[in-house]
Amino acid sequence: MLVTRRVLLKTAAKLGLAAFALGTSKLAFAKPNTPTPSRRDTMPFTLPELPYAKDALAPFISAETFDFHHGKHHNAYVTNLNKLVEGTDLANKSLEELIQLSAGDASKAGIFNNAAQVWNHTFFWNSMTPNGGGAPTGKLAEKIAADFGSYEKFVEEFKTAGATQFGSGWAWLVLDGSTLKVVKTANAETPLTKGQTPLLTIDVWEHAYYIDYQNRRPDFISTFVEKLANWKFAAANFEAASAAKAA
Ligand code: MN
Repeated sequence: MLVTRRVLLKTAAKLGLAAFALGTSKLAFAKPNTPTPSRRDTMPFTLPELPYAKDALAPFISAETFDFHHGKHHNAYVTNLNKLVEGTDLANKSLEELIQLSAGDASKAGIFNNAAQVWNHTFFWNSMTPNGGGAPTGKLAEKIAADFGSYEKFVEEFKTAGATQFGSGWAWLVLDGSTLKVVKTANAETPLTKGQTPLLTIDVWEHAYYIDYQNRRPDFISTFVEKLANWKFAAANFEAASAAKAA
């Protein structure tokens, strides 16, 4: 558990994602005040706890979905990644280093897929909150209006990205340079490898919604936007990224 927290803190420092670390450490980790050690953050990686109770997002996402999605799928990515790097020359690499060094390398597809899925899922849990959804406020709201035209235009792009991702993947709100963008990625692909800073994501793999929505992916995406999106998390990620660029 602590190893994963250190990984997240390191990611936060590297990417300017202070909010990611804060958001995940607040509720998800047993000893949030443990200082970041100087040693490298390597395997064994561990499954982070959810940042809320598994029934906290019901009826929009059921506890049963979390039992499978977090308890089985996310956990399997963690277990698989540890097996893949244990005893190899990659065993001293951090989660983010594993993602970057394996991206686009067919011989390391297993490592990339599992490492990226570990990272993406932790980010996804934090992209949702009880009583979430609706429009953001503050600087991020102003930036969304400036870059997309309006909040409604952003919603339209985000829903389209998630609904049109053929097969498995993700839809994201990212900061690309100084511009907000909606992007979609296939399978385990992540904006991290494209130099973009993730602010918010939705998992549109079937396993994310099938128990609660069956084949109705667009309904799941609409519910995410209207009831679940954690704008506090996205805004903090945006401000941290902006501050990092300004420094
Ligand atoms: Mn998933």
